Amino acid sequence: MNANINKIHLILELRKLGIINTDILSVFEDIPREKFIDKELSYKAYHNRALPISCSQTISQPGVVAMMTQILEPKKNYKVLEIGTGSGYQTAVLSKLFRIVYTIERYKLLFQNAKNVLAKLKVKNIVFYHGDGLKGWPAKFLFDRIIITALAKEMPKYLIDQLSDGGVMVLPLVYKSEQFITRVTKIKNNVKIKKYWRVRFVPLLPGIK
Ligand code: SAH
Repeated sequence: MNANINKIHLILELRKLGIINTDILSVFEDIPREKFIDKELSYKAYHNRALPISCSQTISQPGVVAMMTQILEPKKNYKVLEIGTGSGYQTAVLSKLFRIVYTIERYKLLFQNAKNVLAKLKVKNIVFYHGDGLKGWPAKFLFDRIIITALAKEMPKYLIDQLSDGGVMVLPLVYKSEQFITRVTKIKNNVKIKKYWRVRFVPLLPGIK
């Protein structure tokens, strides 16, 4: 009961933050965020807050997940690549709005946990990979959309290469000493960049664990 009330509050908060895409709002209503965090934290599942998960990482703030998803402009026929599976919550959100989600996580434990949770929730259109997302997807794919959920110090070149013409990538990026949500649109072989609001993300790191 309590969780439902908290969920309604969260949806209202997302609307206030500027989430006008009703498909996105209903996805936030459908996905049980409490399944992606420790039991002891479940009372905070619908607070608009980032929370700790294993391997000293975080499950992103729902408001940030929703805004980044809205900037991606999802479509049911699109293929999306996510770097930083983490808890798998953003992955679940994407799975409801895209045809197929490819997701990469550098920690074996997080990769395994996210795979298990999403199998329990019977989500079928996700391909998981334990690897270094900075190197891109291991096969020569082109993606309509790419989302990075960890902080990039510079524009990740391999990922821009895997973006289709007209494709969009959303990521937190460092500008001087601050981080901002950034949208990169690839047009022919150029990129157009739009900077949004300030955020705090865990870093995008090379190698696997
Ligand atoms: N969207 C996730 C965010 C998790 S935090 C969620 O809401 O749960 C960011 C994640 O990116 C962490 O799990 C971290 O391990 C992962 N990460 C950082 N660098 C990476 C890389 N090079 N390749 C793949 N995953 C990476």
